[in-house]
Amino acid sequence: EPYIPKYVEVNYIEGSGDKNWSKQDFPWTKKLEANNKKVFGNHSFRPNQREIINATMSGHDVFVLMPTGGGKSLTYQLPALICPGITLVISPLVSLIQDQIMHLLQANIPAAYLSANMEWTEQQEILRELCSGYCSYKLLYVTPEKVAKSDFLLRQLENLHARELLNRIVIDEAHCVSQWGHDFRPDYQGLGILKQKFPKIPVLALTATATASVKEDVVQALGLVDCIIFRQSFNRPNLRFSVIPKTKKCLEDIDKFIRDHHFDECGIIYCLSRMDCEKVAEKLREYKHKAAFYHASMDPEQRASVQSQWSKDEINIICATVAFGMGINKPDVRFVIHHSLPKSIEGYHQECGRAGRDGQNSSCVLYYSYSDYIRVKYMLSHGVVEQSSFTSGQPRAGSTNSGRLETNSENLLRMVSYCENDVDCRRFLQLVHFGEKFDSFNCRKTCDNCLNSQTLVDKDVTLIAKQLVELVKSAKQQFSTSHILDVYRGSMSQIVKRNKHNLLSLHGAGKHIAKGEASRVLRHLVVEEILVEDVKKSDLYGSTSSILKVNDPKAGNLLAGRQTITLRFPSAVKASKTCKNDATPARGPLTSSKKTPEQADISGPAQPQPTEHSELS
Ligand code: ADP
Ligand code: MG
Ligand code: ZN
Repeated sequence: EPYIPKYVEVNYIEGSGDKNWSKQDFPWTKKLEANNKKVFGNHSFRPNQREIINATMSGHDVFVLMPTGGGKSLTYQLPALICPGITLVISPLVSLIQDQIMHLLQANIPAAYLSANMEWTEQQEILRELCSGYCSYKLLYVTPEKVAKSDFLLRQLENLHARELLNRIVIDEAHCVSQWGHDFRPDYQGLGILKQKFPKIPVLALTATATASVKEDVVQALGLVDCIIFRQSFNRPNLRFSVIPKTKKCLEDIDKFIRDHHFDECGIIYCLSRMDCEKVAEKLREYKHKAAFYHASMDPEQRASVQSQWSKDEINIICATVAFGMGINKPDVRFVIHHSLPKSIEGYHQECGRAGRDGQNSSCVLYYSYSDYIRVKYMLSHGVVEQSSFTSGQPRAGSTNSGRLETNSENLLRMVSYCENDVDCRRFLQLVHFGEKFDSFNCRKTCDNCLNSQTLVDKDVTLIAKQLVELVKSAKQQFSTSHILDVYRGSMSQIVKRNKHNLLSLHGAGKHIAKGEASRVLRHLVVEEILVEDVKKSDLYGSTSSILKVNDPKAGNLLAGRQTITLRFPSAVKASKTCKNDATPARGPLTSSKKTPEQADISGPAQPQPTEHSELS
């Protein structure tokens, strides 16, 4: 057994000098501890919270990178409470602000917010209180356009500052400053004016996602000076990650997995639809597991009852949509299973993060089939998925509907690419997404890909790729993935025959190529956005179908020979011959249909082929 460290959060502190921010003898330490317990009801601090608070209260500019749910709010709400004056908080979404204010008021902390879509009289009232001598607010939340577009607010802030009542400036979701971030908000770029006007007021910038370039952008745009960076690793050493091909026997597989590894232990199974939750729970009960379902269309009492039975271990397994999660703090969740494809790596990371809070080893297993991609894609484009309560699931103010769809489908494609990848360390793949470099050596074989490190060989599949793209092109862009594969491999089924005349020259061009290999190349083309899947409802019963289309500029590069495509395959199995050596031009008639004896499927376990789906609820 390799040595696996317990769940210890790694705190990287960059540029903080040699100051010890975790010291417990700052002048405010006692007050801090007392209020953390009394007002916020916390028994202790989470990783980095104390350090961040000490740094910002010492008057430094601070940049914080901490996972969602890590507890960033406390790092400015607690200082706001114990310092004289007002803390200005810039936050991108009115809904997030309202949620925060509600919690603050519940804890008896006076707070208010200003946003452009508020009644002017209401805004005036708040501003009046701000410049009065009796202002009780400890926190003032504003949306960024208030700062960028309202001289009036700036004047009020100057007034507060002149009376030494502007205590701290907080930029929440600071990655919105950067064009490189996935949430770019132009108004955030105007926030640099705050540091110009109030150079001595400490700024605290907070985010859960920042690559190196985003971090640079934020520091530059906000004009942060000698900024201290607290950066927390998103790695969770005690979680084991694996992706398993989803077959028709998926529920049997899940039953066996739980029996073999986590019998009578506690876990969550995330399902895509409400109907799936109910079906999975029912099946698991048949297999004698203590399972229940949880989703947003149950009435509140029902949900509360399920959650409480689960907390008391009367139920082991909850089959839930992503609506289940917020506020789940059960420490001994031993497994998180994804019955369907998650919608983004960020979401996946969060959902897995609910396992193993106690530091004990726990499993995260994802059952993946490409056909689920089509299903999720359809559901996303028709707004029929349940959202988690985190920011990533919420509509972004100011972004257009189509912009959101684009981000959604980009996020989904990245998730597909994660699942399709059977080479790189899962931790590495996840952490890259959060801008963190991870050496897969440190995985110590705790993910499927590291465990299964058979020798792999690169294989040039450019020609297959070109042929598939040509085929989609000549199909007048109206066939599904499975149909294209059937034609490519020369199927003589009725439907293929019926449409054969349209696709004559390429029918059977890939006869000698294993189906698994061809389909892997096709999926790769979709992940790379050389081909696009257009998903639509095909009948009244809600089944969906997808049609492949060519994405022109990208496909052009491939067809013109400006791009080659290589995929990795296990070297143990003999690769099927491609017509690479035939020197056949990529365009023109492709008649090569030699049979080769080696028709080994080199794509590993068979993946279900994408077809029509009728499971939408
Ligand atoms: P973030 O902004 O980093 O996503 P939040 O500030 O919203 O996270 O906090 C997430 C949850 O963690 C909240 O429910 C909060 O009450 C809780 N929390 C924060 N700090 C602590 C702590 N020290 N002890 C217990 N719970 C905490
Ligand atoms: Mg937050
Ligand atoms: Zn690994």
